Amino acid sequence: MSIPACPTCGRELGPWEYSTCLSHLPALRDGTGFRRPPSQWAIADLAVAALESEAAPVAIHDVQRAVARDLGRDVYLPSLTALMGTDRRFCWSGRGVYGLFRHDRLPAVRTLSGLSRFVLAAFDAPMGLSDLSFVLKWSGYRFQDVSLEGALLRDAEEAGFRFAWPAPLCEREIRIVGARDVRRSIARELSVPDPDNGIWPAEELIERWRAKVAEGIDERTRRLSISAESMAAIDPDSPASLTVTDEMRAAALAEIDALRSADA
Ligand SMILES: [Zn+2]
Repeated sequence: MSIPACPTCGRELGPWEYSTCLSHLPALRDGTGFRRPPSQWAIADLAVAALESEAAPVAIHDVQRAVARDLGRDVYLPSLTALMGTDRRFCWSGRGVYGLFRHDRLPAVRTLSGLSRFVLAAFDAPMGLSDLSFVLKWSGYRFQDVSLEGALLRDAEEAGFRFAWPAPLCEREIRIVGARDVRRSIARELSVPDPDNGIWPAEELIERWRAKVAEGIDERTRRLSISAESMAAIDPDSPASLTVTDEMRAAALAEIDALRSADA
């Protein structure tokens, strides 16, 4: 089966979501409790419903604001924070930032190590640490490189991360030990049964990410080669740079920065 989607809006649903958006549930079913007004909903359901209409993951205080604005409920920020860290319908997207599965974030992941574990197991081959960082940022995750490196080193033993020598760290390759077993364990965790859609197809998500990682690495290679061409053009020793003014050089350097950054 393919990854289930809401019959009303077509957005994809994660393993722990209902078989429709909460926002679209009342039109479909009786007796579920969601026909009650939002004034009687649980806080986590309010947050899911608010996130359903966001275009991308948002910070927790923005979820709080959206709940007040869209559903007319004031929720206590510490309660919301605690729920978003534990209710698996919320997908972690960076420190204090959460979305839903529909925002292309991984279910059940709560840390940079957990994220790397999934990605390395799905890709099933060693990759440069800088490629890993690029792919994660390009996929929408928000973090500092130093946090990623720290998390990988700290959790290397437990998660089975292995780094190829030599230093420095950012130039090393990283892989995960027993990728196939890790994939199996991830698939087991995400294979949640749903009365309407059957078992959630975790293997399909793993395949999707295998392809996404390969695409991200290609994208980084492409940007780096454009950067290298621009570099040559502003190199003072290159004949191509003879007519380059300081202003043009500054603009080119800014462009190179933007190309190298995955945020672009
Ligand atoms: Zn929907």
